[in-house]
Amino acid sequence: MKDTYDFKRIEEKWQRVWEDRKAFHVTEDRSKAKFYCLEMYPYPSGRIHMGHVRNYSIGDVIARTKTMRGLNVLHPIGWDALGMPAENAAIKNSIHPREWTMGNIEHMRTQLKRMGFSYDWDREVNSCQPDYYKWNQWIFLKMFEKGLAFRKESWVNWCPQCQTVLANEQVVAGGCWRCETTVAQKKMEQWFLKITDYADELLSGHDELRKWPEHVLQMQKNWIGRSTGAHVHFGLEGSSKRIEVFTTRLDTIFGATFLVVSPEHPAVPELIAGPGEERLRAWVAKTVVEMRMRREIGETEKAGVDTGKKALNPYSGELIPVWLANYVLMDYGTGAIMAVPAHDARDFQFAGDFGIAIRTVIVPPGEETKRHDAAPAEVFEDHGVLVNSGPFSGLRSEEATEKMGAHAEANGFGRRSVIYRLRDWGISRQRYWGTPIPIIYCPKCGTVGVPYEDLPVEIPYDAQITGAEGSPLERLESFVQTTCPTCGGPARRETDTMDTFVDSSWYFFRYCSPQEKNLPFAPAAAEFWLPVDLYIGGVEHAILHLIYSRFFTKVLRDFGLTKIGEPFPHYLAQGMVTKDGSAMSKSKGNIVDPDDILTEYGADALRVFIIFASPPDKEFAWAEEGLEGCFRFLTRIWGLVHENLDLFEAGAGTAAPSGGAGEAGGRVVKKMHQTIRKVGEDIEVRFHLNTAVSSIMEFLNLVKKEKDGLRETAGGRGVLRQALETLVALLSPFAPHMAEELWEKTGHAGLLMKSPWPAFDEDLAREELVTIVVQVNGKLRDKFEAEPDLAEAGMEERALALPKILAVMGGRPPRKVICVKNKLVNIVG
Ligand SMILES: [Zn+2]
Ligand SMILES: [Zn+2]
Repeated sequence: MKDTYDFKRIEEKWQRVWEDRKAFHVTEDRSKAKFYCLEMYPYPSGRIHMGHVRNYSIGDVIARTKTMRGLNVLHPIGWDALGMPAENAAIKNSIHPREWTMGNIEHMRTQLKRMGFSYDWDREVNSCQPDYYKWNQWIFLKMFEKGLAFRKESWVNWCPQCQTVLANEQVVAGGCWRCETTVAQKKMEQWFLKITDYADELLSGHDELRKWPEHVLQMQKNWIGRSTGAHVHFGLEGSSKRIEVFTTRLDTIFGATFLVVSPEHPAVPELIAGPGEERLRAWVAKTVVEMRMRREIGETEKAGVDTGKKALNPYSGELIPVWLANYVLMDYGTGAIMAVPAHDARDFQFAGDFGIAIRTVIVPPGEETKRHDAAPAEVFEDHGVLVNSGPFSGLRSEEATEKMGAHAEANGFGRRSVIYRLRDWGISRQRYWGTPIPIIYCPKCGTVGVPYEDLPVEIPYDAQITGAEGSPLERLESFVQTTCPTCGGPARRETDTMDTFVDSSWYFFRYCSPQEKNLPFAPAAAEFWLPVDLYIGGVEHAILHLIYSRFFTKVLRDFGLTKIGEPFPHYLAQGMVTKDGSAMSKSKGNIVDPDDILTEYGADALRVFIIFASPPDKEFAWAEEGLEGCFRFLTRIWGLVHENLDLFEAGAGTAAPSGGAGEAGGRVVKKMHQTIRKVGEDIEVRFHLNTAVSSIMEFLNLVKKEKDGLRETAGGRGVLRQALETLVALLSPFAPHMAEELWEKTGHAGLLMKSPWPAFDEDLAREELVTIVVQVNGKLRDKFEAEPDLAEAGMEERALALPKILAVMGGRPPRKVICVKNKLVNIVG
């Protein structure tokens, strides 16, 4: 009687066995090499989605393969459990954020277990638990002590929908990253983390990240935005005030025909004083508001006014007009620029619009001997040779930049310098469901950190979450009122909570020692497991999460808690999951619920399909037919093993696999060794998990084709038996439940997931080469060796490159090339 593939029974059975035997539990076993395989932990929104299934299936294939390779694999999971959706649910459905979150986690944990992922559940972390976020507060206080956490008043991005502050990184095209509402500007006291102290190291650390996608490194570089140049002071005419500018093109300074100052610049009152002051003040007021509203929206119409004031170019001694314009921001550089219209496209356009002089000071090499008096017709932004630049004329841009920088330093009106686009990280949020910032304000003692022994400052359960503006904590007097830890007098608690990106900036340390009571993590455990050997997650985290995690790791290193400076030397950015041409999303209505698929096809089929349909880093397009195909593939393996179960009965087919199995046996043995090699390399070297699955499929097809012949001899039966065992073992990382079941059915005692990965024999895996003869106009001229089934294009290319053929052809292109696979290339010339 044929046993049908009852995936429901099989999957439940093995999930129970793995759990009972604690099969995924790991310790710091120093007898084995470690491998830390990490997927980005999910936000517990309620249900897992296909993006999760994909991310975690990729990680699980790697983790299970490494385990079978004999490595000590740490493969943890947890919950990024604080954040706004819980509060929104509280407002909408009158459920407490804590209940909502814990219920979601309960459900999602069950779903992840149904997928058969090999997580060490003893290491689960949950960022909404006080024993986790206590350490956010601990790290914050350490940073506060060292001046890395500080408070200042600043303009902040404000989402009117979410009622909270957003970091610049969380403003996408002028909208809130979460709800897309247009972001407004608001002035508030905020807590910041001094990520700018690490700007240079965040850039130089990229040298260690050779296994990151190049475009992710580039995005981070752009975000950090390092510019080398010089600060130069322009004296204001009739005043002791100086306007400082930053320029990356000091070589062009003789071409500066005006200064542009931000309307937010502190010198504005002096610049607009005098005749026309009323008009200028009105312009400034209107423009500042517009700029704050539209700061992140991109190109705005350039607008400017002439203040009537003049500034002195310290190099040329020339007096040039000072303008105010909306395209110079106060928070980048110094809030003032020198405008060189001949050599900067934006200045060129502005000067043209407002009729300001344009003077050439850089020309392409060779042009410097000509006169360059007239205003140029177009902008020239390249480096070149200086003209009209006093004593620096005739120098090349690079040399001039050096000499002019030294000149400014020697004369005290400037210095060579570096600036960054990166801003300090504003972490204050006026929300309830976040880590309370552990600070107390005392009227006598000022800003005081909560003593370490009083941590955690717990999120009070009884706050009213109504969605009204401001923080629910602010309205909860029992939380706000406290005593000062320094003087014992009455004091008030900080009511801002931390950006949830703080939680995810160090959770991978916590997995190393999740029960640690005295520190965020045990340094010895972290030293054993870190860095993370492979980190897998969506590329949407290229900037926010991945820069913050790198920053936190460097800070924790400087606290002496870890020795590593980079947490993730290898980052695999997994592609999007799409259906019908767009990303799966609620708004598009194209979501496929993993639960439905699990019920209909089982976890193994879903895992195989999601891995097989596309390489991990590419987009994955959902197609039901593909899923059915993968289900049939599993059913075929199931059937094939069951038809041949007699081979595994005691004493059956124990003959040596290589002897006396005939040609069919030789073919299967060779393919088996090649498949083992290919699957291993695809998984561990190339990360082409999809082609690993197709190799297993090809091998299955060959075994099916040859099985009847193999069964006829004792040697053949031995080969077939070994081929089936290999198939099942190679299947294990992809379809672990079925693989365990078949492993057991074929008489093996231990767990397959703990058994060694099949070995291959290099000699047996080697392809025999075929000899291909090359003819020119029907006459034999040469021959070459090639791997079997080389494609025609490859045959033609190699034949035409042979020295003898090149000589015969004498440079003529062939009129026609005819290829016969594995045999012949005939060139008609
Ligand atoms: Zn929002
Ligand atoms: Zn006090």
